[in-house]
Amino acid sequence: MDFSKFKKTQEKVVKLIGNSYKKNRFVHTYLFEGAKGTPKLEAAYYLASVLMCESSDAPCGKCLSCQRIENGSHPRIFLIKPIQDSIKKEQIDALEYEFSRIGLESGRRVFIIEGIDKATLNASNSLLKFLEEMNDDCYGVLITEAIQNVLPTIISRSQVVSFAKIPMEELIEEYKNKGVLDETSKVLATLTNDVSEGLELIKDGKVLDIIDLVKKCNESIILNENPFLTFYENSRFLFEENDKTYHQMFLDILITITNDRIYKILGQDDKIIFSSELEKINDKVELDYKKTFEQLEKILEFKTRLKYNISLETMYMQMFIEIMR
Ligand SMILES: [Zn+2]
Repeated sequence: MDFSKFKKTQEKVVKLIGNSYKKNRFVHTYLFEGAKGTPKLEAAYYLASVLMCESSDAPCGKCLSCQRIENGSHPRIFLIKPIQDSIKKEQIDALEYEFSRIGLESGRRVFIIEGIDKATLNASNSLLKFLEEMNDDCYGVLITEAIQNVLPTIISRSQVVSFAKIPMEELIEEYKNKGVLDETSKVLATLTNDVSEGLELIKDGKVLDIIDLVKKCNESIILNENPFLTFYENSRFLFEENDKTYHQMFLDILITITNDRIYKILGQDDKIIFSSELEKINDKVELDYKKTFEQLEKILEFKTRLKYNISLETMYMQMFIEIMR
């Protein structure tokens, strides 16, 4: 388990755990909540390291306990993950059984449940009962990316710890370290807070085609040509699958590239993502703030229509007509 991302991006949580350690005041149930991609599981193992470390300067990283956690082989840590997208009662029962056994090893025990928002009602009730009866040397970390779906009774039994979103620069740095091109890294960082999800998108390949399509349409818009024709001629791949995520992505990236023009006009070049695109048209046209802003508003408005059951082709046609008015 590598704690570097956690320490780098979640200063507040590191501090909270450090303070609890200094005062020796830990609660028995934590609820770690935050966006996908924030290192909540790493943080749970970090907390376990602090709770179980044998040194007086926890987590030392050297003692048997710390090393077992690093290898993912600590016998007194139990990890539960959703099975087929839900946490089931049997999983909580199994946990309870493990914790009630008089094991070979004494000492603190920690359980971690990922995706607690996916617990069935039966599982949640079993868990609540288990939390009430839990021994003093037992600790639990519940993890969620959707706290609004967690039962209020579970929230009120836990100390809620919120994780900060990963800053853009960190995401971009991570992509670059994985060999992703500068511009693609920046675009991915606008699309998701989770680097592994972004890397999946590249593997899937479509995101690169979408970026290419956005650039072509953007150029047509700026040069006052016919962006719908450009879109029509190059977007067949978008309609191959009945999946609106790709359309969402197309509009999101179109919004990003339109925003670039606004940043250019405002002289905020450091915020521009597609700098090479703007360089291409640099001498050809004068950018107009009011017009660009209206275009941005139109795209944002059309994006909200995606959630309805509409003909996407017609939607794009209307959108490009209105943009070019
Ligand atoms: Zn240690």
